Amino acid sequence: MTLDQIKPLFKDYQALVKRVDGHIAGIQNTFPDKIACKKGCDRCCRFLTLFPVEAFSLSHGYVRLPDDIKVKIRLNLEKAGCPLLIERECVLYPFRPIICRTHGYPLYMEKKGQRLVDFCPDNFKGVSSFPKETLLHLDQLNTLLAGINRQFIGSIETDPPLLDRIPISEAIFILGP
Ligand code: SF4
Repeated sequence: MTLDQIKPLFKDYQALVKRVDGHIAGIQNTFPDKIACKKGCDRCCRFLTLFPVEAFSLSHGYVRLPDDIKVKIRLNLEKAGCPLLIERECVLYPFRPIICRTHGYPLYMEKKGQRLVDFCPDNFKGVSSFPKETLLHLDQLNTLLAGINRQFIGSIETDPPLLDRIPISEAIFILGP
């Protein structure tokens, strides 16, 4: 499958990314002076495994990177952590997975019957509660992403079949070295 053939298959995923980015922008507007997330902070970055749709999307960005950056990524494969983190910046930031877009912001989840809101302790200092519309419902987001992933998998053929989750160190090379 060529890059041009695969691009339309990201339509639903990209629509979800756009919704998530819009939600995050809304939080930033609501709490303009309460967010410490900034370029150079890599506190949330870690080694990830991805659904195939996110793995292919990330690889779609990777193949366009200049060779010198690819060399640095390959060197990073020897280390722990995310190989895309170079000098404390994500070299595939526009293509980063959804989880990377949501880290640090108020994530709503239910665990063992308890309602929890998780966010980076450097953010929202002094904030005692969040307006409902600023909470990102993690289970709902994961359900949407899983559905989009199922559709994506159904639209491509691979041999051998794709793993359910693909480590980021393998994901980036799916569409090219
Ligand atoms: S993909 Fe980018 S934002 Fe996500 S963990 Fe890796 S370096 Fe960090």
